[in-house]
Amino acid sequence: MDLSRFPRRVYTHGATPLEFMPRFTRALGGPQVWIKRDDMLGLAPGGNKTRKLEFLVADALAQGADTLVTCGAPQSNHCRITLTAARREGLKCRFVIEERVPNSYRVDASGNHFLFRLLGVDGITVVPAGTNMREAMQRVADEVAAAGGKAYVISGGGSNALGGLGYVACAQELQQQFYEQGVRIDRVVVGSGSSGTHGGLLAGFLGNRIGIPIVGIGVSRDPADQDPLVHQEAQAVADLLGLDMTVPREAVLTFGDYWRPKYSIPNTKMVEAVQMLARTEGILLDPVYTGKVMAGLIGLTRAGYFRADENVLFLHTGGATALHAYEPQVLGDAPVAE
Ligand SMILES: *Cc1c(COP(=O)(O)O)cnc(C)c1O
Repeated sequence: MDLSRFPRRVYTHGATPLEFMPRFTRALGGPQVWIKRDDMLGLAPGGNKTRKLEFLVADALAQGADTLVTCGAPQSNHCRITLTAARREGLKCRFVIEERVPNSYRVDASGNHFLFRLLGVDGITVVPAGTNMREAMQRVADEVAAAGGKAYVISGGGSNALGGLGYVACAQELQQQFYEQGVRIDRVVVGSGSSGTHGGLLAGFLGNRIGIPIVGIGVSRDPADQDPLVHQEAQAVADLLGLDMTVPREAVLTFGDYWRPKYSIPNTKMVEAVQMLARTEGILLDPVYTGKVMAGLIGLTRAGYFRADENVLFLHTGGATALHAYEPQVLGDAPVAE
């Protein structure tokens, strides 16, 4: 599919590595596990939001915006990467931060929040859990307009049809790598949150006739709530591409369980997964997303869901910066939920 007709800023040079993980595979004792290193995308340090922002920021510039407005949780990777893109482009950047866990916002917090300050964010509005984020961002955009500026509002996680194109690009990059490296992948495991990653990848796989099933691991919702979001995103991306295709409901698959007790709250399976990958392969996961997604891969392997002769690809979406906001939990020095 021709993505070159969409305006795009290039924040990563070349493809992110596709690698086999021999020591992790041995420790797991299940399928052959491969990793797509989207934690090595651009925008210091990058992650899955980098791919979405290549299209979203290009659109903001085309519309003549001078300020990016977006939203997220107090340790949002999406906010950090959006701010980094803003700095790269000479734009201003403002956040609406949703305190999903009450009293979790701290001005002196480490991790991503420290980087918000180091990168010189132009404004943070903190709102309580359950706030209508679209409206809250619009109020910030109105303030920007009242001061003579022009805001471009980026939805949570950069997940809309345009942002989802970033993961269509990833699907095409993977297809090329499978071919060049002679790799046959049986299933892909991906984190499923605001769903631009999962939905975009799915649209890219369907549109390019890549017949590899995608297994989503919910980071904040069980399948009854998550699957419709992913389906809607995949359909929106397919429509934007003019694919003239109805995304089959059964192409969307997610698992819940691993995100509990709550989005961003550490649990023992996440700690095991983060330690295991760090200590077998020297690769850093994050406590909020990829640690729980890898816990899903490990848990599904132990439950017999993946066969030993399968090649399973784990999509690493980044986020390690947030480790610093959870150091004692991740080291096992502070208690975490079951
Ligand atoms: C945002 C994020 C995700 C989830 O991706 P969505 O596109 O929102 O579903 C996964 N991993 C990391 C590290 C993230 O920052």
